[in-house]
Amino acid sequence: MSGLLNLETLRAAFEAGEIDTVLVAAPDMQGRLMGKRFHAAHFLDSGWKETHCCNYLLATDMEMITVPGYKSTSWEAGYGDYTMVPDLSTLRRVPWLPGTALVLCDLQDHHTHADVPISPRAILKRQVARARALGYAPMAATELEFFVFDNSYEDLRDRGVNDLRAISGYNEDYHIFQTTKEEPLMRALRNGLYGAGVPVENSKGEAEAGQEEINIRYSDMLETADFHVITKQATKEIAHALGKSVTFMAKYDHARAGSSSHVHQSLWTADGKAAFLEEGAEYGMSPLMRQFMAGQLAHAREITAFLAPYVNSYKRFCVGMFAPTKAVWSLDNRTAGFRVCGEGTKALRVECRIGGADLNPYLACAALLAAGLAGIEQGMELEPEMRGDMYGAADAREIPKTLREAADLLEGSAMLRAALGDDVVDHYTRAARWEVEEHDRVVTDWERMRGLERA
Ligand code: ADP
Repeated sequence: MSGLLNLETLRAAFEAGEIDTVLVAAPDMQGRLMGKRFHAAHFLDSGWKETHCCNYLLATDMEMITVPGYKSTSWEAGYGDYTMVPDLSTLRRVPWLPGTALVLCDLQDHHTHADVPISPRAILKRQVARARALGYAPMAATELEFFVFDNSYEDLRDRGVNDLRAISGYNEDYHIFQTTKEEPLMRALRNGLYGAGVPVENSKGEAEAGQEEINIRYSDMLETADFHVITKQATKEIAHALGKSVTFMAKYDHARAGSSSHVHQSLWTADGKAAFLEEGAEYGMSPLMRQFMAGQLAHAREITAFLAPYVNSYKRFCVGMFAPTKAVWSLDNRTAGFRVCGEGTKALRVECRIGGADLNPYLACAALLAAGLAGIEQGMELEPEMRGDMYGAADAREIPKTLREAADLLEGSAMLRAALGDDVVDHYTRAARWEVEEHDRVVTDWERMRGLERA
C-alpha cells in the first residue's frame, strides 16, 4: 500500500526535500506512542538501527508517575535504559504532519538485546507466534469510537475539563448530515491514514452527540494493533491542528454512551482459507471457531483487565447503552459480550464487544488470543448460545463490575500465567491496582459537590 517506506525510499524522499523528520516511537503500557523525533539525516545514518529510552516508560501511569511496586524497574534499580529497535516494516509517511515519517519500535533489554517481556508489542508477538505454530494466522480489526469536542485541549486546560462542547447536539448514529459537518476532521483523518498505509474502510457517526467511529480493514493481529495506535495518534493530531479535541475515554460522561473498541477476530489457515468457516455447520461455525470462542468465554472474566484497564472503563458497562454487561455469546446480538458476525460467509468472525476505546490494543488482542488458543488446545466445548436481551439474563456470566475485581481475576489467572508468563501478569496486575489505589486516594469533583455544604 502506498505510504509505506523503506530505507531507500525514505532516503529518496529526504533528498527530494519531502521528509526531514522521523518519529521513532514505541507503544507504552497505555498504548500511547512514546519516543523521539529524529532528523531524517541522522535516522538514515544510524538511528534506524537503534536508539534508547528510559525504562520507566513501561512502569508509569497516565501522568508519567514513577509508580512503586514494579519488578521491572524502580528507583533502587536506577531507572536505566531500554533499547528501542525500529521495526522497519512499519516505516511510513505521516501525511498529516509536514515532512514527517514514523517508525514503530520494539523494546529490548539494553544489555542482552532480548525483547522486554512486559512490552505490549512483545506480548502480542508471542501470542501471534503461538497461533502460527498451531498453523493459524490470527486476523483482527479493532473498531474505534471516540468523542469530538469543539474545544481545543488548551482551551479545556484553561477552562476546566468539564467545560466540554460536543461537536454535535444530537445522537448522530449513521447520520450523514451531522457527519458532513464533521468532515474537516474525519475526511482529513481517513485520507491521512490512507496516505500512511493504514487501510481505512470508513467512518460513521455513532450513537451519541459528538461521537464518531472509524474502521480499519482487518489484518494480521500485530499489524492491526499497530494500525490502532497510529489511528489514535492521527485522530488527536488532526483534531488538535483544527482547534478541536477528541477523547478515547471509555466513559467521559455517565449520562452519555461510552466509547468502545470492539475486536473482530478470525483465524485463517496458512494457505489463506477462513478456518472459522465450515459449510453446513450451525451458522457456518467450524469446530475450531467453537473451541476458540469457548476459550474466550471461559476466560472472559480473567482477561477483562486488558479490555477495560482503568477505573473509568467499568462505568461503560451499563444496561441499554449498547455496551455489554454479560460475557456470553449470541448471533448478531449487540447485547452480548461476544457477537458472532458474518454467519455462513468467509467474513465469519467473533466480535468481542467488552473492550472500551481506552484499551491497549496489543494487550487486548494478546489476552483474547491467549484465551482462544487455550480453548483450541484443550478442545473446549462451546456453551449454548443465549438469545434475546442479555441485559436481563439473570444467570449469565457477568463482566467484572470494577477494576478492583478484574485485577484479582487477572492475578489469579492460571491461563494467562501460562500464556504470558508470571512477570507479565504480575506487572499488569500492579498497573491495575495502582489505578485503583490512585482512585481511592483522590478526592473528586463529585464528592466535593455532594459533600461540601450538605455533609
Ligand atoms: P459491523 O458494522 O457489523 O460492526 P463491519 O462490516 O463494519 O461490521 O466490520 C467490522 C470490522 O470487521 C471491519 O473492520 C472489518 O475489516 C472486520 N472484519 C471483516 N471480516 C473479518 C474477518 N474475517 N476477521 C476479522 N475481522 C473482520
